[in-house]
Amino acid sequence: MRLTVLGSAGTYPVRGRPASGYLIEHEGTRVWCDAGPGTMTELPVAVSDIDAVFVSHRHPDHCLDVIIASHVLAYGPSPRFGVPLYGPASALEAIVEFVDGGRIDEVFQLNPLDESDRVTIGSLTLSVAVADHSVDTLASRWETEHRSLCYSGDTGPEGDWMRLAKDVDLFLCEASYQGEPGIHEYPHHLTASEAGAIARSAGAKKLMLTHIPPHLDPARSVTEAEKTFDRPVSLAVPGVSTTL
Ligand SMILES: [Zn+2]
Repeated sequence: MRLTVLGSAGTYPVRGRPASGYLIEHEGTRVWCDAGPGTMTELPVAVSDIDAVFVSHRHPDHCLDVIIASHVLAYGPSPRFGVPLYGPASALEAIVEFVDGGRIDEVFQLNPLDESDRVTIGSLTLSVAVADHSVDTLASRWETEHRSLCYSGDTGPEGDWMRLAKDVDLFLCEASYQGEPGIHEYPHHLTASEAGAIARSAGAKKLMLTHIPPHLDPARSVTEAEKTFDRPVSLAVPGVSTTL
């Protein structure tokens, strides 16, 4: 399995650093996982060569480029229709409603996911769990026969979504905050130290921090996560691929 970071900026993109988005590949299957602004043009393959799209939730920094991709798929040089789009029902509805016409409902085949769903996408298996966020949000676990990846999406520390990170080869976890847990007004995100603690209790083999806002120093986030997680900690850097 290979993970390519397309963008990792938390909450909003900045030049050279798109918002959240990843390409997950295995044996010819390609899934675009979260489609934050700026990630579509960072895809190393044509949009029409993507097998499926997954959006964790409806916040714009995670799904806006799905709307742009619908134009490429419908009106670009290689039109393609019926591309599976997975995510919480409310996210899929919001995307379709925003476009309000066009060919988005032809371009994408909508596949709303529920808590207990486990679906096969080519050579990948996807499981989801409800995350601790202010809108319907799904954490996800991606598996092949021998490898596993968990992506937290946006989440706070509550709930049992972290079961998806059990013994994973790589835990791609949001770290929107720094400093002590509990001091932030909006509780539905994690500090870097919370990300590390969750990775440790889940038995993750490696932790990759993402969704760090552009105004924070990411090196500090790594240092804080290393205090609570005793295995390798890295940063999600746009353009960098990791083979699991
Ligand atoms: Zn969010």
